[in-house]
Amino acid sequence: MFEMKQLPFALNALEPYMSQRTLEFHYGKHYKAYLDKLNELISGTPYAQMNLEEIIAASFKHNEDKAIYNNAGQVFNHEFFWRSLSAGGAVMPSKEIMSKIEQDFGSYEAFKQEFKSKALRQFGSGWCWAVEKDGKIDIVATSNADNPISLGLGKPLICVDVWEHAYYLDYQNRRLDFVSAWLDNMVKW
Ligand code: MN
Repeated sequence: MFEMKQLPFALNALEPYMSQRTLEFHYGKHYKAYLDKLNELISGTPYAQMNLEEIIAASFKHNEDKAIYNNAGQVFNHEFFWRSLSAGGAVMPSKEIMSKIEQDFGSYEAFKQEFKSKALRQFGSGWCWAVEKDGKIDIVATSNADNPISLGLGKPLICVDVWEHAYYLDYQNRRLDFVSAWLDNMVKW
């Protein structure tokens, strides 16, 4: 049985960039629903003995376990997103990661531009990630419940949820404004 990860801040702590109402729905309803569904689906199956990453890797290969894959992916992705949120202003990358970003993108500003562009171009629901692969920093967008673990795209460092439920109450259709607000004010490396 998986249990909801506690948020390390109050539901109103990200205001004005992310409202309490958004988090009440996003954390309390959407994330909880994925987690409850996952627990229900894996109950009494071999998946019940696995950790989240093992479930994602194992169910990815089996079309008949697509619902398990989707719900496990969404639990993993949301927990990664909660870890990528800071209530006290942006928490910048470590010295080591920052020097790789500057090497691979030219500057942190250029990295942010590229990140916003990829997050905006992701068609429909999904996620945008910074990953580390072969010692380099890359930016990848994934659809629906997919993530860099299942797709072999590298080790995730941070992610942002670009499903509409992540931002619609606060930003309506302005995904770019939400991603910008996250990168400038809420990101936690
Ligand atoms: Mn979400």
